[in-house]
Amino acid sequence: MARYQTVLLDADMTLFDFRRSEREALRNTLQSFGLPWDEQVLRDYAKINSALWDAFARGEIDQDFLSAERFAALMRAHGGHADPWKVNHSYELALGETAYLLPGAEDFCRTLSGLGLTLAIATNGLPAAQRGRYARTGLDRYIPHLFISMELGAQKPRPAFFDRICEALGIRDRSQAVMVGDGLGTDILGGNRAGMDTIWYNPDRLPLTGPARPTYTAGSYGEILDLLSRPSPQACPTPPKNVSDL
Ligand SMILES: [Mg+2]
Repeated sequence: MARYQTVLLDADMTLFDFRRSEREALRNTLQSFGLPWDEQVLRDYAKINSALWDAFARGEIDQDFLSAERFAALMRAHGGHADPWKVNHSYELALGETAYLLPGAEDFCRTLSGLGLTLAIATNGLPAAQRGRYARTGLDRYIPHLFISMELGAQKPRPAFFDRICEALGIRDRSQAVMVGDGLGTDILGGNRAGMDTIWYNPDRLPLTGPARPTYTAGSYGEILDLLSRPSPQACPTPPKNVSDL
């Protein structure tokens, strides 16, 4: 019997190539408003957006502020005059029209679906964009459940996000579930707080920073599949903490 019966998968940069979608949607949006666009603008947007999402996760700002401020701050840094609300609205529409999987993600999901486990995507994000990508990339053929923070009324890393998913899937024993994702401050910290094991998907081999403590770290989809195919702790009482140590 496999160690875990339920696998919760993050979406962006775990399965979806969000950076490619973000880049394409940003370029199209900024160009359509006549705003500056180059590699430096993209890098600065990523920094601004990431800092605002961190502030949002800490409960310091709300989603409305985040949505407008990321473009207001970008225009303060690089110039240009446009209504940040309108820019954000166009950007979100453009983002919803893009759908790219990371290399190997489809094969990974197909193989995972053959393991006989309960599979769900558990993502922070906008319902229209995430549902659109889920269907257009064909992941709905392999992963039957999709949970989106804005529909649940709580986002990762808040325990309420995981509580609502466990309730919907009928999970009573959380030691049977695992959260898989690339986000230390969202997927891993959220899993820690929810009392669930975690697999940190870290293909770039980034250093571990912050308070999150992954149960396992995996550098590839193959390593995640190895972990999920492993027998339960009764058969393997002291699993190594990192598949690279195997
Ligand atoms: Mg992610």
